[in-house]
Amino acid sequence: MHGFSYKNGSLHCEDVDLTTLADQYGTPLYVYSAGTILDHFQRLDAALGGVEHEVAYAVKANSNLSVLRLLAEKGAGFDIVSGGELFRVIKAGGDPAHCTFAGVGKTRDEIVYAIQQGIYSFNVESEEELRYINQVAGELGVIVPVAVRVNPNVDAKTHKYISTGKSENKFGVDFEAIDGLYDRAARELPNIRLRGLQMHIGSQLTSIDPFIEAVEKVKPLVKRLKERHGIEFWSIGGGIGIIYKGSLASGDVAWWSNQAQDNAPLSIERYGHALVPRLQDLGLKILVEPGRLIVGNAGVLLTRCLYEKKGSAKTFKIVDAGMNDLIRPVLYEGHHEIVPLQEPSSDAKVTVDVVGPICESGDFFCQDRELPDFQPGDVIALMSAGAYGFAMASNYNSRPLPAEILVSGNSSSVIRARQTLDDIIAGETGA
Ligand SMILES: *Cc1c(COP(=O)(O)O)cnc(C)c1O
Repeated sequence: MHGFSYKNGSLHCEDVDLTTLADQYGTPLYVYSAGTILDHFQRLDAALGGVEHEVAYAVKANSNLSVLRLLAEKGAGFDIVSGGELFRVIKAGGDPAHCTFAGVGKTRDEIVYAIQQGIYSFNVESEEELRYINQVAGELGVIVPVAVRVNPNVDAKTHKYISTGKSENKFGVDFEAIDGLYDRAARELPNIRLRGLQMHIGSQLTSIDPFIEAVEKVKPLVKRLKERHGIEFWSIGGGIGIIYKGSLASGDVAWWSNQAQDNAPLSIERYGHALVPRLQDLGLKILVEPGRLIVGNAGVLLTRCLYEKKGSAKTFKIVDAGMNDLIRPVLYEGHHEIVPLQEPSSDAKVTVDVVGPICESGDFFCQDRELPDFQPGDVIALMSAGAYGFAMASNYNSRPLPAEILVSGNSSSVIRARQTLDDIIAGETGA
């Protein structure tokens, strides 16, 4: 099993030469490895084998229909955060009865749509929302399954914009308030069914410790809720981090390939070993909601160098992808390794900023980084761009959204065509 590696001096995704794809479909171009996506999903599924469980892929990380279909066919559930994501899951052949719906701001239309489709559970983020869902369910004359998201006040030790399990975050209901809320709901809200409890403490966690801390802190609460209210599932959220940094030496196993997870501070297997024994005695169905882990290292963004600009203070490599295509560097200080598609013949490095064409100073992929001296015309890969990459892309600066390619073995297919300029203005008046 392999994701991305040099073969005969040219970077490949599985058995497909990325240079060929860049030439054929143009750049910027997202390319995903189906084998890597499935490997991550199946390894997590196996690591949780000791407990009744469901892996509910967090759609927001990468919501391309073909990616969803790949996972749906292997029996994945889905964690969604909008009506739009539910629509996508259904279009891709996913089963709404295996969907959980999270998010602090669900609208009436979204709630009605999800009820009509028969989702597994609303993961509710406040008492106000719980009462509103009860009201809407009452108007429709149905009883709907819910879980409340508990905020366990645990420090996930990750970037502040992707930490969600502390009291100061907008997510979930305070740990101390959950018992009272479930008791009130059972007494006062006849149109909801208390089906489970949910938590999610943050994203890109690179240590097992916060997961253990959260599970141990919340477990007694889960036991009480099972006894008092008969809940049947506990979702322990997503957030398993991936490796973004590493060097690619020819012949080595690439760190973004699957094997590398074994040496990571937090691996799929370590996650399972640490948590399954702590969950086994509960007699509940355990849900996990991984997004980044499944798709992050399974995708790259290919971009072509347009110009080299030597300023008085810095050298800029200007490429044809911008922050509208991949916003993680400026939004989260996210690191993406930058690798030329043609393997450099020497170890010589230059210190450069790699920047895009967008009219923003935040439009960079790295700053003051030592990189091989690629030239205008060369194509580079921004590694580990499969999660929160295309999903966060926009038309800013009226730039068409890039195409997306899915590779499996030696075959590749376009799973999203590059937008045209007409696509960008579709829906506007004034032409
Ligand atoms: C974003 C999110 C996830 C997925 O997070 P990853 O870090 O990509 O695994 C899971 N659950 C909820 C509720 C989320 O908001």
